[in-house]
Amino acid sequence: MQNSKIWLSSPHMGGNERKFVTEAFDTNWVAPLGPNVNGFENDLKIYQNEDVEVAVLSSGTAAIHLALIQCGVVAGDEVICQSFTFCGSINPIMYQGATPILVDSEPETWNICPIHLEEAIEDRIANGKKPKAIVAVHLYGMPYKVEEINKVAAKYNIPIVEDSAEALGSTYKNQKCGTFGKFGILSFNGNKIITTSGGGAIVCQNKADKSNAVFLATQARDDTPHYEHTTIGYNYRLSNISAGIGRGQMEVLDKHIALRRKMHDFYIEQFKNIKGVTVFSEPSKDYFSNHWLSAIIIEPSETNGITREHLRNAFAKADIESRPLWKPMHLQPVFKEVPYYGEKVSEELFDKGLCLPSGSNLTNEDRDRIENVIFTIFKND
Ligand SMILES: *Cc1c(COP(=O)(O)O)cnc(C)c1O
Repeated sequence: MQNSKIWLSSPHMGGNERKFVTEAFDTNWVAPLGPNVNGFENDLKIYQNEDVEVAVLSSGTAAIHLALIQCGVVAGDEVICQSFTFCGSINPIMYQGATPILVDSEPETWNICPIHLEEAIEDRIANGKKPKAIVAVHLYGMPYKVEEINKVAAKYNIPIVEDSAEALGSTYKNQKCGTFGKFGILSFNGNKIITTSGGGAIVCQNKADKSNAVFLATQARDDTPHYEHTTIGYNYRLSNISAGIGRGQMEVLDKHIALRRKMHDFYIEQFKNIKGVTVFSEPSKDYFSNHWLSAIIIEPSETNGITREHLRNAFAKADIESRPLWKPMHLQPVFKEVPYYGEKVSEELFDKGLCLPSGSNLTNEDRDRIENVIFTIFKND
């Protein structure tokens, strides 16, 4: 019998998504506004923290773009960005005609290193330009070192754009990721912990920032009977259909996080007696990761030469998807001229790391297939 492909992370519907989408059709709210948009925003606000304001948008990348604009980033400015991330974190800096300044990760959370962050800020100031914003990322759902990063940002009075696209439901000291920065960013792309088939959100600290985000996301139309524009806007609002999927997904979010965390436990068990393989885990009780993707580091000098690629190829043969960690932005051809501060932490993670199937919809049979591959690679000698 033909086995079906096991994906890294695939959409997992809860059941009520159709109900909300059908309602949208039945009431003819087939537009980038309507009851599902308001309902989804309210669900997210309650989930994140009652004190924040949430605007839902067409993507996480759009949310980062609007956050940078609201931080005052314009052409010629410099913006600091974590190098070890997905291109969605950095591309909006380019959309603004600004220059990204890339910073390495620290080895505990794999996220932006507070020491190199401060080094970068001081050096840029010495060069004559104070960075306008810091894009910090909670990669794979792991919170960055929130207190250390906040402290550096506060010392130089630079706003943080908190890329929480992978970290919906993660917490640091019991506070939700996405609520620490001047702006927080969420993504509901197809492979994220919840999906609206495509979408995102900007989390704001006050109503004025939210209404400005919505204004910019709906073509910046001034308050007149005709269409009057005094600034450039964007078409970035989420549709009422997509928001309906989001409302259904919110009902199962915590359940799906628990299942992702169980996948992480499964890998801890799989690799506990295998020398040279470490499963990426929270550095202390202060950190709670949604474990959006489970990831491992394979140290070939301790595994008799078995590399990340051996395991990845064996998975591929068994029709199981796995993937190297993000390739740092300072190694990307398109960003090769961009200033970089750091050492080789993210480069090593890219060399040795692998993301493993992590979906909340994986079955016992899927886990057996994954276990078989791990066994053939590591336990057969
Ligand atoms: C997915 C993702 C984004 C972008 O979100 P989209 O909704 O796909 O535009 C940004 N940053 C990170 C770290 C992501 O994983």
